[in-house]
Amino acid sequence: MNIILLGPPGAGKGTQARKLVDERNMIQLSTGDMLREARSSGTEMGNKVAAIMDAGELVTDEIVIGLIEEKLEGDHGGGFIFDGFPRTLAQADALGELLEKHGTSLAHVIAMEVNDDALVERITARSTCGNCGEVYNDVTKPIPADGKCSNCGASDFKRRADDNEESLRTRLMEYYKKTSPLLGYYHAKGNLRWVPGLGEIDEVAAGISKVLDS
Ligand code: AMP
Repeated sequence: MNIILLGPPGAGKGTQARKLVDERNMIQLSTGDMLREARSSGTEMGNKVAAIMDAGELVTDEIVIGLIEEKLEGDHGGGFIFDGFPRTLAQADALGELLEKHGTSLAHVIAMEVNDDALVERITARSTCGNCGEVYNDVTKPIPADGKCSNCGASDFKRRADDNEESLRTRLMEYYKKTSPLLGYYHAKGNLRWVPGLGEIDEVAAGISKVLDS
């Protein structure tokens, strides 16, 4: 079963994707993570996209479609979770074609319902474990007092370069201009399912599970 998690930055897509990986053996395909990895390993492509990402703008469709295409060649596990992809109508069209080429399709597009105030609060308080990617929040889920990640025990935490108010404003604008039209696109295809995204992590996960088990 392949699904898309759709929502603005800070909606909790990554956190929910990680839960689905643990609980359902699904494979998370996050273009944001792939791009950050390319940056930190200093590939030519990584260097090219660094400034665009820090500014909160979208990198080209060609680059992200290429990244996803490579991953679809590999193991399909319990299905793919597309996290942060597609973000434009051109990416959505390309994904449909790629899935068809691989003899598979999309089961659901899960739209995570949140409001902008909550997003700013979440993002400016966010940090992640540098080892396993576990997400923390200064207010709602602080880094444990012993300074060790509750998931893997590592003690190296990171804040994303684009998790500041200025980049976030651009990221939100990009979302509303280029990504939110996908809500209509997938509604018309009959794939769209709304899930409340503002509750506790487990409550949001329960909403997603209800859709996946329906
Ligand atoms: P994310 O981790 O999903 O918030 O992505 C971080 C940044 O990577 C975004 O602000 C964009 O600059 C870039 N990015 C990630 N996924 C895409 C995508 N599907 N299309 C274009 N740019 C992307």
